Amino acid sequence: MKLSATALVAAVTLATSVTANIGRGIADPKAIEDLYRRHRDSGEYQKLIHKRGSPVQPALRPRATTEPDQAAITDATQECTAYNLPEISAIAKNFPAPWDNATILPGDTQAQAVWASIKASGIIPAGITPKGTANGDFSAFTPTYPHSDPDCWWTFGGCDTPKHPNLANDLVSCPEPDTWGLTFDDGPNCTHNAFYDFLQKNNQKATMFYIGSNVLDWPLEAQRGIVDGHHICVHTWSHQYMTSFPDEQVFAELYYTAKVIKDVVGVTPTCWRPPFGDIDDRVRAIAKGLGLESVLWTDDTDDWKILPLGTLPTASIDANYASIIAQETAGPRAHQGNIVLTHEINGHTMEEFMAQYPKIQAAFKHIVPLTACMNQTNPYPESITYPNFAQYVAGNINATGLPQGATIKAKDAKYNPTAAVNQTMTGTQTGGVASATGAVLGSKSSSTTGAAAAAASGNHKSSAGKMGGEVMVIATSVAAALALGATALLV
Ligand SMILES: [Zn+2]
Repeated sequence: MKLSATALVAAVTLATSVTANIGRGIADPKAIEDLYRRHRDSGEYQKLIHKRGSPVQPALRPRATTEPDQAAITDATQECTAYNLPEISAIAKNFPAPWDNATILPGDTQAQAVWASIKASGIIPAGITPKGTANGDFSAFTPTYPHSDPDCWWTFGGCDTPKHPNLANDLVSCPEPDTWGLTFDDGPNCTHNAFYDFLQKNNQKATMFYIGSNVLDWPLEAQRGIVDGHHICVHTWSHQYMTSFPDEQVFAELYYTAKVIKDVVGVTPTCWRPPFGDIDDRVRAIAKGLGLESVLWTDDTDDWKILPLGTLPTASIDANYASIIAQETAGPRAHQGNIVLTHEINGHTMEEFMAQYPKIQAAFKHIVPLTACMNQTNPYPESITYPNFAQYVAGNINATGLPQGATIKAKDAKYNPTAAVNQTMTGTQTGGVASATGAVLGSKSSSTTGAAAAAASGNHKSSAGKMGGEVMVIATSVAAALALGATALLV
């Protein structure tokens, strides 16, 4: 869809208010709708982002047009002032409008060809139908869904080990002991400079799951992610419940997000995380077709619920962090690795992480991006090499081959997922767009130690219990019908 400058600014403005409230694990879809509406209508978001800015508004500077210029802005109001780069205008027509549920654009022959190739590969299991609605109302679906969970639907029963052939297990935990796997969802957020400055100052890298619409809306912020040496993955185009979409829309949500990351950030992503964790074997297979490895988590901070944009006081989120930290020193999960779900969704979630960081450092030996904990040194087909675990924890945290901030420019980079299918964290992935045949997946990287692999397997068991708890929360509040899922979990 081609956007005029005015339409793009309008889309950006809407996106700014909407993204402020996107989170995961919404217990009640109506509640999040109310949350959106309340903050959008009150203009509270615009007021709140000032909190992180200077109390004295500096004179407005000319709009930044490069990544380093944008990264240097410290005033949150200026950070979040919409901008429109000519190079983005030139490629915007190749993408769905920001925040629209993605579909293959009419006339996009490249997307059509990739989609045809994935379908022809036969990797999409037959007989799995779309579930519920895009905003996560499964009340009309679950009464007829078997308790045995034949689709390995995480939202229903916490399943992360596929029941259909040729699909890799979801990546759930870091296999390295005493290690916090650091991941942030929902970026790039326009207020993130102070947070990315903080990570830089602390020599800390993370895995960032970017929303495609945010990348198109905030391209210089997305570029900062790669320039700073973080690990970039996909978090869909419109942040909806992926199991609700027909096959082609699942494809489009992933395809256009990976494509915009390639065009704007310059790398072909090979990993993704489903919004709300909503994944089943059909969605896994389509992601696999694009060379995207599915990533979940062991621990959830629920930080997106933090006031004032969410509904919980800071003390509640503090307690969530504290309980994750406590597991490191006591109980069956002590000294195992984790992957923690945290958000770059607004200034408050980022501030909360910064406040918690010293406590995490005190409790865990290592805090690492997924590239390090999975010993994945080449996470993209492009020539960028990240440090492995041993190198990272020895202090060699910087990737080599990263683009320079002054020169990185968005352009039509001819996204081609074919090369991505061989770049995974958990083993060699075949099939999908590159091949019509699939191999059994899921073997751990050969460079992972035996002790680490054992830790991972132990962790996996305990994490299922944790996720089951979350699912029960969802089940009891979406609709009575979903309580069936909760019952299944209890037995
Ligand atoms: Zn998210």
